[in-house]
Amino acid sequence: MNLFDVYPINDIEIAKGSGSLIWDKNGLEYLDMYGGHAVISIGHSHPHYISKITEQINKIGFYSNSIKIPLQEELAERLGNISGKDDYQLFLVNSGAEANENALKLASFYNGRKKIIAFKGAFHGRTSLAVEATDNPKIIAPVNQNEHVTFLPFNDVEALEKTFATMGDEISAVIVEGIQGVGGIRVADDVFLQKIRTLCDKHDTVFVADSVQCGYGRTGKFYAHDFSEVKADIYPMAKGMGNGFPIGGIAIAPKFKPWHGMLGTTFGGNHLACAAGIAVLEVIQQENLLENATKMGNYLMKELQKFDEITELRGHGLMIGIELPEQFAQVRKDLLWKHQIFTGEAKHNVIRLLPALNLSQQHADRFLEAFEKTIKK
Ligand code: PLP
Repeated sequence: MNLFDVYPINDIEIAKGSGSLIWDKNGLEYLDMYGGHAVISIGHSHPHYISKITEQINKIGFYSNSIKIPLQEELAERLGNISGKDDYQLFLVNSGAEANENALKLASFYNGRKKIIAFKGAFHGRTSLAVEATDNPKIIAPVNQNEHVTFLPFNDVEALEKTFATMGDEISAVIVEGIQGVGGIRVADDVFLQKIRTLCDKHDTVFVADSVQCGYGRTGKFYAHDFSEVKADIYPMAKGMGNGFPIGGIAIAPKFKPWHGMLGTTFGGNHLACAAGIAVLEVIQQENLLENATKMGNYLMKELQKFDEITELRGHGLMIGIELPEQFAQVRKDLLWKHQIFTGEAKHNVIRLLPALNLSQQHADRFLEAFEKTIKK
C-alpha cells in the first residue's frame, strides 16, 4: 500500500532529538526553531517526560472512559492552577480540531443556536465545523460548506459591532485565535478581544478562545488571550499539551453544565496521554518555561529588529512571525538546507518561529547568526 500523498515533504529522516536539537539518520544535526509545528513545548526527549511515560506504559496505557482515571483529575488540577482557571472544567480529546469541534458543539448545546463568527485568516482545524470556520476554501469539502459561519475581518471592532447589531441573538459562538498562527502570526488586539467579550456577554454568545497553537505558555502567558485580560468561555488547546503525544482538551467555564453523553471520545484522556500531559506541566513549572518563553522571545525580537530587511515583526514570546519582502523568498529554504535550521512558514513570505519553550540563548544566537548570513549574502 502507498501512503496517501497529501504532504509536501522535505527529504530528511529524523532519527533522534534532544531539547532544541534533532539529528537525521546520517547523524547530521539540525536546530529546531519550528517545534514540529508548535508541538514541542518542553524540548525533544525531555528525560522527565520519557520517564513519566515509560513508568505509565509499564503499568497501564489505556482503558476507556467508563472507569475512574485519577490521572485526568490530576491533569485538570494542574492545568487549572497554572492557567489561573481553577474553576473551569476539563474535557480531554486527541487533537486541536477535535478540541475546536467540541467547543463549538458545546456552545450550540448551551444556547441552542447555529451561527458562528470566525475571522479572515483563521485556521481552526479540518473536522467538519472546525474546517467550516477556517478561512481556506481549498480545504473545505462540499459536505462542509454549510451556512453556519460568517467571516469578519480580523481586529475589526466596527464589523463585529455591526454584525452583532443585526444578528447578535442568533450567534452561538465567536471563535478566535489569540495570535493567528497559520494566518501569519497576527496578534489579536486587546480592544478587539475585549469587544468580543462585551458583545458575547450582551447576547449570551459563547467566546471560544482557540489556543491550540498560541496557548500552553508559548507566548509567555498561558493563553495568548490573557494579554488582553479577558476571560473566554471555552479554551481549546492541543499542540504543546503533550509535547508530541496526541492530546487535546477544552477548558470550560463553570456556567456550562454537563450531562452524561453530552460529549465523548474513545481515546481522549487515556492513561498514557494524561501521563504525558502531566509531565509537560511539571516541566513547564519546574523549569519556569513561561518566563523563559518571555525572556527568549524578547531577546529574539530585540535582535531581529536590527534587520532593516524585515518588513514586519509580529508575535509574543516564542511565537514570532518575520515578514520579508519577495526577494527574500529563499531565506527559509537556505536556513534549512545551508544552516540546518527548521523554521515554519505562512503565506506572503512570513517565517514562523515556534521553538521549544526551553530554547537557550546559545540556540537563539545560532539562529540569529544563520539568519544574518542568509539575509546579507
Ligand atoms: N487551531 C489552530 C489555531 C491550529 O493552528 C491548528 C493546527 O495547526 C488547529 C486548530 C488544528 O489542530 P490539529 O491539527 O491538532 O487538529
